[in-house]
Amino acid sequence: MEKDLYLDEWTAKKIAAEGSLFHRSELEAYQYEKVMETLAFAKENSRFYAEKLRGIDLNDILTLSDFSKIPFTTVQELSQEAVNMLCVSMGEIKRIVSLETSGSTGPAKRVYFTEEDQELSIDHFHHGMQLLSDASDTVLILLPCQRPGSVGDLLRIGVERLGAKAIPYGLVDNKEKVLNLMQEKAVTVIVGTPAQVLSLALADEENKSANQKLKGENIRSILLSTDYIPEETVLTLTSLWGCRVFEHYGMTEMGLGCAVSCCNLNGYHPREADLFLEIINPKTGEVLADGEFGEIVFTTLTRKAMPFIRYRTGDFSRFLAEPCPCGSHLKWLDKVGKRMIDKRYESSESAYEKE
Ligand SMILES: [Zn+2]
Repeated sequence: MEKDLYLDEWTAKKIAAEGSLFHRSELEAYQYEKVMETLAFAKENSRFYAEKLRGIDLNDILTLSDFSKIPFTTVQELSQEAVNMLCVSMGEIKRIVSLETSGSTGPAKRVYFTEEDQELSIDHFHHGMQLLSDASDTVLILLPCQRPGSVGDLLRIGVERLGAKAIPYGLVDNKEKVLNLMQEKAVTVIVGTPAQVLSLALADEENKSANQKLKGENIRSILLSTDYIPEETVLTLTSLWGCRVFEHYGMTEMGLGCAVSCCNLNGYHPREADLFLEIINPKTGEVLADGEFGEIVFTTLTRKAMPFIRYRTGDFSRFLAEPCPCGSHLKWLDKVGKRMIDKRYESSESAYEKE
């Protein structure tokens, strides 16, 4: 297996590790320092966190494990208190993303970013895309990209930093139009949601059975993002277009990106210099050991406008306890389950693993 340690090299640089790669102990020391900085910064600058962290003496947090003394932040709090969570003035906000709260009629969630916060996302996209593409590629972006600062727009900038050609398209409105564009521009990499990319591949296959040339035959990598990714979609895309299918896990609150597949194409590695991830028992709140399934909780380490502290994602996964075959020293996050945490947790682990 080829060893693509781009994310490790990038992480080593970000945490100022001694070598070109890093040791877990170096990363953990960095994460502890950043967690403490984030707690102090949020307590001082946001009304919401001043209240939440009232009565907590930060001097009592001596290790990363002590961090479990800090209360969680919930999606309900985000939808009701977004403005109070802010740590900077409105003048410093570059972009606000409004999100429907899934499955509820509650108010939309709003997530705020400064320009520096956006730069963190671009930098992650730039280095994450190295795993599946290089300067020789033409990358078709089938994600919302019209507005400056939208996910597709930030990805375009990341791809261009890689030296590759980016074609920001947006969501698929017309399959034939996109298939023709792929041929005309000699697209080699696609980034999109599972349902959209699958619909393109199936349309291409249908045309092929009508004796037309397969337009996706030059595709060498696909990155699926945004939605829960069914295993069947990955298998179908791999077989129809003969390409590698990478997966991305993230959410707007995380600063869009969180974790991306390595060359192992099984699970993902998170950007641990920007996010501190924990897996918890959703019923008791207890932090679980590697290998155990639970809810993903994250804390931002480098964000300014709106830091998130122990934010409960409602997503379900585990850290694999063994090292990933790719050789990365970043945590190895198992494929993330649907955002149906409570039901999922009550069902058996084997039921989860089948999906
Ligand atoms: Zn790996």
